[in-house]
Amino acid sequence: MLKDKIVFVTGASRGIGKAIALEMAKNGADVAICYSSDGEAAEAVCTEIHALGRDAQAYRCDVSDYQQCSDTVKAAIAHFGRLDVLVNNAGITKDNLLLMMKEEEFDRVIATNLKGAFNMMKHAGAHFLKRKQGTIINIASVSGMMGNAGQANYAAAKAGLIGLTKTAARELAARGITCNAIAPGFITTDMTQQLTDKQRENIIATIPLKRMGQPEDIANLAVFLASPLAAYITGEVIKVDGGIYI
Ligand code: NDP
Repeated sequence: MLKDKIVFVTGASRGIGKAIALEMAKNGADVAICYSSDGEAAEAVCTEIHALGRDAQAYRCDVSDYQQCSDTVKAAIAHFGRLDVLVNNAGITKDNLLLMMKEEEFDRVIATNLKGAFNMMKHAGAHFLKRKQGTIINIASVSGMMGNAGQANYAAAKAGLIGLTKTAARELAARGITCNAIAPGFITTDMTQQLTDKQRENIIATIPLKRMGQPEDIANLAVFLASPLAAYITGEVIKVDGGIYI
């Protein structure tokens, strides 16, 4: 479905980003990935992709840093020759109740989850514009659509990411570039490992499908959105959440 496409996935050393990188490769893509701290895990993802017969390259890049994003996009284009798809997946949580939330907790989450996507969209977007084609997929969250107690910073960043997605879709459509967001519900990754058993039980009780999602549930939709089958879809926010926000 993605034969010889070049896909860049941020935050792909583990979790949802790793699943997206692997699923893209299984469908014929070569993959550039970035990570912030765990180089060994990122190299292991590249090894798995090489075993699938596709090219892969890992870059250390803090997506909240504008210059690092510029350098990394340039390095990936130099290695792969071009980019076709950008997946903004890198994200963090620093949960706290609004009135307890430290300024640093708010700023860090906005810088990574929202400004990080802006940084990558600016640098990869300029390349897409020149080529008059490109696909951007932003990993948002149902928290950004419905709010979530304890996640003022995270929900604000993800709501902002949805606004960024819709604006980019409008601005870039005439240049042959699509931009969509995926809004996951609760997915089993390190991010949700922080939940206690009791919290997990309470959450599952509110999910109509009565289970947490798997990273592959998100990756499958990312592959579809990156493929020619989704060529006429832009500006959409698609939930993959087991029905938690119907
Ligand atoms: P994980 O915590 O499992 O993985 C996060 C990934 O992002 C890691 O690869 C990490 O790299 C990378 N990362 C973190 N900060 C930065 C940074 N500043 N620059 C570059 N990379 C960075 O998260 P998930 O897989 O669970 O989440 C992936 C995305 O999906 C996030 O945007 C998250 O908000 C979203 N999401 C997740 C949900 C869930 O239930 N899990 C629900 C809804 C949305 P490293 O290991 O090197 O630090």
